[in-house]
Amino acid sequence: MSASGPSKPLDLAIVGGGISGLTFAIGLLENGIRPTIYEAAAHFGEIGAGVAFGPNACRAIAKISPKVAAAFDKCKTANTFESKGNTWFDVRIGDERRADKDGYVKPGVKVGDLLYEILFSSNDNRGGVHRARFLDELVKIVPDGVAKFGKKLADISDATDGSGDVVLHFMDGSIAQHTAVVGCDGIKARTREIVLGKDDPAATPVFSGKYAYRGLIPMDEAIKLVGEEEAQNSQFYFGYHGHLLTFPIEKGKTMNVVAFSSAKEWKNPNWVVSTSKEEMQADFAGWGPKVTSIVGAMQKPDIWALFYHLPASTFYKDRICLLGDAAHATTPHQGAGAGMCVEDSLVLSSILKDAKTVDDIKKAFVAFDQVRRPRTLKNVVTSGEAGQLYEFELEGDDLDQIEKNQRERMKWIWDIDLDEQIEQARKIYQGDRAKM
Ligand SMILES: Cc1cc2nc3c(=O)[nH]c(=O)nc-3n(C[C@H](O)[C@H](O)[C@H](O)COP(=O)(O)OP(=O)(O)OC[C@H]3O[C@@H](n4cnc5c(N)ncnc54)[C@H](O)[C@@H]3O)c2cc1C
Repeated sequence: MSASGPSKPLDLAIVGGGISGLTFAIGLLENGIRPTIYEAAAHFGEIGAGVAFGPNACRAIAKISPKVAAAFDKCKTANTFESKGNTWFDVRIGDERRADKDGYVKPGVKVGDLLYEILFSSNDNRGGVHRARFLDELVKIVPDGVAKFGKKLADISDATDGSGDVVLHFMDGSIAQHTAVVGCDGIKARTREIVLGKDDPAATPVFSGKYAYRGLIPMDEAIKLVGEEEAQNSQFYFGYHGHLLTFPIEKGKTMNVVAFSSAKEWKNPNWVVSTSKEEMQADFAGWGPKVTSIVGAMQKPDIWALFYHLPASTFYKDRICLLGDAAHATTPHQGAGAGMCVEDSLVLSSILKDAKTVDDIKKAFVAFDQVRRPRTLKNVVTSGEAGQLYEFELEGDDLDQIEKNQRERMKWIWDIDLDEQIEQARKIYQGDRAKM
């Protein structure tokens, strides 16, 4: 058992090769820095499910690398109808219990009818991707040899050779020595436990009280169920303690469905479990025909228990920094978790571009923490509220109040000036560097 190499500046280890690890690695490579990715799995891969990227995420993607932008464009599907080109989601009430005896939820609007549209605030790129396909494309951008597989991080210790390096210890008994580590190992991150300490309540993910059925429906079938307009463009269906969303992926060949429901606690040690159609249909009994027909048609649905992180007091400790879900895992209700990961990758890789020494790396971590922590933690809190809003738990079932609230809540996410984020981080980095 020997360490993989001596200390040299910017010999960075990335733990985890999901959206965060890959986009961060590509950002570094674009800036002339070659990291090593240690991924627990035997190969890159993900279960099939859709992920939506908003305008902020797409701007970050384009700034990281034109190659990532091309990979995204290859996989992305936006709303199909030209008239829906600027629509984030159409909003409908899916739950029949909200209707009066004639089926109306408000004058002229029945269960399942269009209530209002939430529009994007700019024409910037956005869209949904099949996560596994997008990751496949990202992997193609990373040169051979950068990623090492079957390397599940167990612990990190200080090097004993006087270099001040970190030594990564893997479950297979091997070790690797690097100047610094960026933990991109997701919501159950081992790096998070190491940075925060196992006893910190924020080190352990918390159940959000919501779970989601995720499944796919071939587009032909989806059109038969809800018609072309609803199947081919993004839809929200709101209800009591549950909601459902659909959007097209795979160039419109497939409708992605996420159907949310509520539970007081989650006892199963597994967070993704397979389920039966009957169980799912029981959860949506009392909902209108559109929602019940979508739920009935979902192929091989899985249940995802939705966990999130309590706010971390820091995203770094000495030479270890957390990025993406490892730093700020969120519920998915604003569709912004992966976007925040990509923004993180952009900001940290941009500041590390100028780093020449180990102290520079540490200062880059400080700057990253100061700029990124407030924004990403705000997303975790507001995402939880958004889930409650859609399920009549924040503004009750007052549809006017829900609309007013929803119209305002995404702008700060979509309209972020990413150059400004990089500039702020660079100023902190340079200021702190000057003090060294
Ligand atoms: C139901 C649901 C729907 C979502 N929908 C959206 C959406 O529409 N839009 C959006 O922006 N976001 C969405 N998200 C959030 C988004 O999926 C995540 O924010 C994002 O995928 C996190 O990426 P990551 O790379 O940080 O972590 P992960 O994807 O979890 O990747 C972590 C990687 O680290 C590896 N790893 C873990 N532990 C170790 C270890 N000890 N050693 C080595 N490797 C390790 C794992 O194998 C994995 O490859 C959704 C999330 C859920 C649960």
